This record gives sequence, structure tokens and C-alpha cells, in this order.
Amino acid sequence: MIKVYKFGGASVKDATNIIRLANQLKEDQYPHKVVVISAMGKMTNAFERLANAYFEQNSQDKKDAFDYIYQYHSNIISELFNQDSLIEIEELFEQIETKIADSPSLNFDFEYDQIVSFGELLSTKLISKYISHAGLNNSWVDIRPLLRTSENYREGVVDWQISEQNIRQKFRFKTNNVSLYITQGFIASTYTNLTTTLGREGSDYSAAIVAKSLEADSLTIWKDVDGVLNADPRYFTVTEKIEFLSYRDAIELAYFGASVIHPKTLKPLRDIGIPLFVKNFHHTIREGTMIGKQEKVKPLPPIYILKKDQVLITIADRGLSFLTEEDIAFFYQALAFHQAKSNLVQQSALYFSVVIDKNDRKFSAIIEQLMQKYQVKYNDGLELLTIQNSNPTRNSLDYISHKELLIEQHNRKTSRYLVKQ
Ligand code: ADP
Ligand code: ASP
Ligand code: MG
Repeated sequence: MIKVYKFGGASVKDATNIIRLANQLKEDQYPHKVVVISAMGKMTNAFERLANAYFEQNSQDKKDAFDYIYQYHSNIISELFNQDSLIEIEELFEQIETKIADSPSLNFDFEYDQIVSFGELLSTKLISKYISHAGLNNSWVDIRPLLRTSENYREGVVDWQISEQNIRQKFRFKTNNVSLYITQGFIASTYTNLTTTLGREGSDYSAAIVAKSLEADSLTIWKDVDGVLNADPRYFTVTEKIEFLSYRDAIELAYFGASVIHPKTLKPLRDIGIPLFVKNFHHTIREGTMIGKQEKVKPLPPIYILKKDQVLITIADRGLSFLTEEDIAFFYQALAFHQAKSNLVQQSALYFSVVIDKNDRKFSAIIEQLMQKYQVKYNDGLELLTIQNSNPTRNSLDYISHKELLIEQHNRKTSRYLVKQ
């Protein structure tokens, strides 16, 4: 009888939300719970600025980023506890200060993980303390020695066998007489205890790993929306909540970029049939979306998935010969080497184009590698709209109608449009 809950950045972004979270957990009668929490609000972005400044040894930016993070947490502490600081939080900030006073190694991804992971350590320590303060016993767990990954910094590959064993060993409700565990999403470690992360927005995946390892009854991810909608309400004014999705449909949505669920979350749950609920933390009694085993109960509406900040990279042979499979393999090797995912592909006699997420560091490295052999062009500031379950001619394409269209692709179930942002 175990439930796993995951609260993302938005649900713990300020004191009000943390108080609401504590109340929700107090009212929840379920006997055994693991709560997986992300960094507060946009703290991971702030930590990314700190990691960049540290790596580039820019003292002013480093100080600004550190001060911002420190102040953000201090403000929440003073609202929640009526005091300026908490010893445990001060200790974590001391560790950050020690880290950034040192010179960085040459491995950016490694340094990134060592720094950015503090976002989740801070949030879980602070929230665990507050929940106790509010009268609810709980046990804080550092997930890192349990969740083991490869040394693939920023995108750790999980060692399932060892991690499952460790997680089962640690989260023992009855033996330890604990009913509520609080732990971190997103972070993990190598076998030698060096911190790794699972990729941006990876806390949903962490929660699924914990849920599968403990064979939980369900996983609920609490969001600032009513569930999985048929479009992102930030960009589409009219949206519709989807009541039920099969694992397969949910995997497709996440794959195309519906950022409400991290793409890796669904497979571990599907493996042993754990249902996933996506619910609104502002309205906990609303039904939300259930993702599970049954096949479709009713046909899905058209679903609009928008990926922003895309870049189209095109290669051509310098002498304008036809591109061969070897050329395409070279392109894909460059993408794989820099851990970039291809979101859309287009091929013609002389050109081969791939759309990827714009990530400055990766992008420059990929371009540099391709330029060694090819003529390379790129087009950035793009967005990729995927529409599923819809007859393209009948789509209401208001969203893209005034935008410059670069690529359009259709198959039986899916239409895709690459446009200028
Ligand atoms: P978290 O707090 O867990 O980090 P996110 O901000 O990553 O949550 O995810 C929730 C957001 O995902 C919503 O506020 C919404 O803007 C966006 N979103 C994108 N696609 C969808 C969709 N299909 N359904 C619901 N929300 C979506
Ligand atoms: N805090 C991390 C991020 O913002 C992980 C997560 O929230 O899922 O990417
Ligand atoms: Mg998030």
C-alpha cells in the first residue's frame, strides 16, 4: 500500500504553496507515501546560471547568481519559520560556496551536475523541515546513494538493478515506522558517489523509478493544470482535458514534446502496470488525467504539441554531390555524440536537414563538427507544432496561419509544421 507523489517546481515555488502542500499531506490518509520533489520555482535555471558563471570563472555573474538563489530561499524560510535561516540550509549553502570557490575541471557537464543538484537538496530539506514544523512526521532521504547512474553527466543512465534494490532496502515503511518519506527528483549519483542528474525536467522520471522499485499502487504528479490537456494552455486559449490515456498514447505525446510529462516516465510504469495520475495541486479533488493499461475508451481529440526554440541544421556536400548514407550516418553520429535528439528530419537529393532543440553549447559543438566535412546552414528561432489525431485539412491552424512555414509533414495520424517563432 504505497503511493508515490511528485511535486514539480511550480507547486513548491513559494511559501503559500509549501503550506498548501503540507496541508494536503496532513489530510491525506493513505498510510505509506513517498514524495518526490523538484527544485523550487525556476531555481534550476538560476543554478544553471551559477554553473555557467562558475565554469567561465566570471566572478560577478557567479556572485549575482549565488546571491539570487540565497535570497530566494531566505525569503521563503522567513515566511515559513519566522526566522532568518535554518542550520541545514546554511550548511548546504556553505557546500555550494566551497564548491564554487574552487577552480572548475574541464568537464562542464560534470560541474553542472555538482552545482545544479543543490536545487533539489535545498527544496527537499526545507520542505521536510517545514512539514515537521507543521506537525507531520516525515523522513528525509538523500536519493543519490540509492539511485545509481552511469557517468553520463546531465543525462545519467540509470542502473535499474542496483537502484531498485537500494530503493527497496531504504524505503521500508513498517520496519522503520515511517509513513512519509521526502526525497529529491532529478538527481542521482555514480557508483563512486559523484552526483549526476537525469536531464532537465527529470523529476517525473525519478518518481517513476521510485514507484516501480516499490511496486507502488500509483504515481500522482501534481501540476498547475487540471491534467493532460489537448494543448499547452500557455499558447492555446481553448483547451480540453483528457480523462484517460493509454500508456502508448501518453508515450507518443511525451515523445513529441508535450512537456507536461517527461518522456522517460511512462515506460517503468507500464512495465508493471502502475497507473499514473496527473492532477492539479490547486484543486486536489478534481479528477485529473489517468494514464493506464486499458485501451482507448473513447477517441482522443486533436492534440496540439508545441516545441519552442528549435533549430534546423542542413548539410550539403561541398561539391554538391548527392549525400550518401555515410554522410547521414556522420550527421547522426555528431548528434549522438553531443546527446542531441533529432525532432524532425527532411531529406532531398542534395540536402539533409534535422531539427533539434536549441542548446547553445551543444549546438556550436555540433556545427563545428559538421563544418569539418560539409557545407552547413542553420535556421534558428523556430518552433515545431505537432498535431495528433486529426485530419490535417480540418485542423484549426490559427496558431501557425500567420507564421512563415519552413517544413510541413503529414502521415495517417500526425501532422507536423516547422515555423518561424
Ligand atoms: P512541474 O511543476 O512539474 O515542473 P511543468 O511546468 O514542467 O511542471 O509542467 C506543467 C506545464 O506543462 C503546464 O503549466 C503547461 O503549461 C505545460 N503543458 C505543456 N503541454 C501540456 C499539455 N498537453 N497538458 C497540460 N499541460 C501542458
Ligand atoms: N528541477 C529540474 C528541472 O527544472 C528537474 C525537474 O523539475 O523535473 O529541470
Ligand atoms: Mg518542470
